Amino acid sequence: MNEGGWSCPHDVRGVCDIIKKECDPGDKGCVLYGKVKFANPQTPSNEAFEKRMERKMKQMLEESKKE
Ligand code: SF4
Repeated sequence: MNEGGWSCPHDVRGVCDIIKKECDPGDKGCVLYGKVKFANPQTPSNEAFEKRMERKMKQMLEESKKE
């Protein structure tokens, strides 16, 4: 999937060389999984992203209490 301004180095003519199937940004195994929130609410990346952000916020709150 080479739409927009970013092209993934794992995209080999539309097939992901990591997940070994058609490129599906945000799918489990994708380098973007959990790192990006997508406009498509169906992508599994969004839930992983939210959980990651929650963990990060808790960690920051814990660190601020120590100071
Ligand atoms: S699924 Fe993710 S890692 Fe794989 S080619 Fe697509 S954008 Fe890249």
